[in-house]
Amino acid sequence: MTALSLTNINKIYDDGTIALRDIHLRVSRGEFFGLLGPNGAGKSTLIGIVSSLVRKSAGQVRVFGHDLDRDPWGAKCNLGLVPQEFNFNNFETVEQILLNQAGYYGVPRRLARGRAEKYLKALGLWDKRNTVSRNLSGGMKRRLMIARALVHEPGLLILDEPTAGVDIELRRSMWDFLRYINDEGVTIILTTHYLEEAESLCRNLAIIDGGRIIENTDVRSLLRTL
Ligand code: ADP
Ligand code: ADP
Repeated sequence: MTALSLTNINKIYDDGTIALRDIHLRVSRGEFFGLLGPNGAGKSTLIGIVSSLVRKSAGQVRVFGHDLDRDPWGAKCNLGLVPQEFNFNNFETVEQILLNQAGYYGVPRRLARGRAEKYLKALGLWDKRNTVSRNLSGGMKRRLMIARALVHEPGLLILDEPTAGVDIELRRSMWDFLRYINDEGVTIILTTHYLEEAESLCRNLAIIDGGRIIENTDVRSLLRTL
């Protein structure tokens, strides 16, 4: 079963910038997949397209078989997104943020409460459940973004540079958490420009540069060529 399939994706922004050229990518269910590339390579654009935040110019996106154009809600329900920028309502509490997100996806309230508890505990945020989000530290907000992306239990979790600007201790604990949910069966795709991060977490990766995939291989073979 394919978690994510991208066929012929192209993106030209309104100002004429060609951000993606003929992207083909297949990520299997259960994978921990890395999307590696320098700034400006097209990683965020690609993630934006998959999560319906950016309109593609051409091509096809399927999330667990749901075509993004024909069945956008089906695709969306199977996807959790952890964007780079915080986008919380500042005055909502940690728990409200999770319950609202679950509500948006139609998760029944009781179930949502149980999941909120599970993810907040696993991410070390349970003590903060009644804190409004603007009073959280940067590291706590990052973890809250991960919990929020999981509360509807999507099969695919996509994270855009999840550990950028995060200290080494928190980075390690985020890595452990991501490994744990991957072991539970969640397919993970993350973008990074740290080779070390890809090496530590990912089985397979694609390298993107200038809007093209220039390498798509397993991490071990890539390291042998360096
Ligand atoms: P990355 O995430 O790998 O840093 P991006 O997807 O952000 O790369 O950017 C890919 C290219 O698209 C870059 O040349 C960037 O300047 C350009 N770009 C990104 N967003 C926009 C936009 N809204 N309008 C025009 N060009 C954009
Ligand atoms: P609307 O269609 O009402 O404008 P959005 O689709 O923009 O709402 O998103 C509603 C909420 O769901 C926001 O908090 C947004 O950050 C979040 N969200 C949107 N897409 C995803 C996704 N794929 N995974 C997780 N959260 C998402």
